[in-house]
Amino acid sequence: MKHQPEPLPYAYNALEPFIDEATMIVHHNKHHQTYADKFNAALERYPELQVKKPEELLKDLSKVPEDIRTAVRNHGGGYINHNFFWKIMAPKSGGKPSGEIALAIDKDFGGFDKFKEQLSAAALGIFGSGWAWLVLNNGKLEIMTTANQDSPLSVGKTPLLTIDVWEHAYYLKYQNKRVDFIAAFFNVINWEQVNRNLK
Ligand code: MN
Repeated sequence: MKHQPEPLPYAYNALEPFIDEATMIVHHNKHHQTYADKFNAALERYPELQVKKPEELLKDLSKVPEDIRTAVRNHGGGYINHNFFWKIMAPKSGGKPSGEIALAIDKDFGGFDKFKEQLSAAALGIFGSGWAWLVLNNGKLEIMTTANQDSPLSVGKTPLLTIDVWEHAYYLKYQNKRVDFIAAFFNVINWEQVNRNLK
């Protein structure tokens, strides 16, 4: 059984002008595909792991055979993080959340503006490649970052929302201006999906 990147739930140009078509094409077809391919290659000699949900492997890396543990962490992480990331973006979305997530953000961050400020600062502050996340930890919302392709699942936290700040996510359009990419990202957040992740 081979893992394949999930298809985008919208067209490659659907997130324009905030995230450009060229970036979405190379990000999904090349970067994400490569994580999937290398994840599949790592699992080649372990058919019993191929049929497990990749998320389950990432939740307890200590159970993954040592010879492929780093590959599963990096490429399995890259594989699931991107599947998750495509879904938390959507055209004609963004702005302020509604529903349960809005209430939780108000409760745990003291309002949407404070949440936005903290997530933006976390994303901007990542040195090198990684991800900034909104996660659920023991019933409470938290912002955290991970380096490389590490998943919050590996430290027992539930991802709700994420922003990919690897340069490949923004360099074609924003070059070195990560701060502008982060600001643009808030226009494409699919809060309905974030609400589903919270359930
Ligand atoms: Mn990426």
